Amino acid sequence: MNGRVDALFPVPDNRNMLPEVEKLLVVQNRDQKIVSIEKELAGIPLEEEDIRDKLTEDQESVDAVKKSIQEVEIAIKNLELDIETRKDSIEKLKVQQFETKKNESYQAMGKEIENYLSEIAELEEQELELMEKVEGFQGELGTANEKLAESQRAVDEDIADLKVLQKNLEEEKAEQEKQKAEAASAVDEDLIEVYERLFKAKNGHAVVGLVDGTCDGCHMKVTQSTVADVKKEQKVAHCENCGRILYWWTVESDSIS
Ligand SMILES: [Zn+2]
Repeated sequence: MNGRVDALFPVPDNRNMLPEVEKLLVVQNRDQKIVSIEKELAGIPLEEEDIRDKLTEDQESVDAVKKSIQEVEIAIKNLELDIETRKDSIEKLKVQQFETKKNESYQAMGKEIENYLSEIAELEEQELELMEKVEGFQGELGTANEKLAESQRAVDEDIADLKVLQKNLEEEKAEQEKQKAEAASAVDEDLIEVYERLFKAKNGHAVVGLVDGTCDGCHMKVTQSTVADVKKEQKVAHCENCGRILYWWTVESDSIS
């Protein structure tokens, strides 16, 4: 990735460049790399969230089947309670039947027992149907769980890759910071202060080329005396419009280091 970032931020190679400016360009190059790396790092939590979002649908499928199973199981429990109630009623009726002396009552109770028995048979049939339904759902749950596990593996892999990228970026950032500190230590403190202010205020472009009398930062023409100062390369010259530090842009300085 070093090569890629380098290509994004070429350091002009100008053999006649004012040494302070040349050093500043190295500092700026490292700073620009750091900013770029920080941007990539800042995007990682969002990327991670996107990756994890891929699990949502599969998790929802699993949850939906589980909910269906739960609902059917509750329905089965209710049926069992209904069956139990009817069985209790039958037991009570049988006792009453045994105690009664009237034939009419005996037969009426017998009829009631028969009704309960046929109701129980019906409820048991319903229960059987629901149990088959649960079996079907269990199969669906198995499939849904497998799909979720598969997605989880893919997500784990993607997250692991992302962590590696993050670690590499952090290492690269630390390396660039080290190089920046080294380069900055060789530049006059006041000049570094000016540079730092410009780098922040001018969106990462504190030191820019002067191309055909035009500041490459603000794209405004500078005065003839500024052009002369930049060309002489005896002192650090600034664009009088935007304040950026200027260097003489030549064909040689257009090459990428
Ligand atoms: Zn300017």
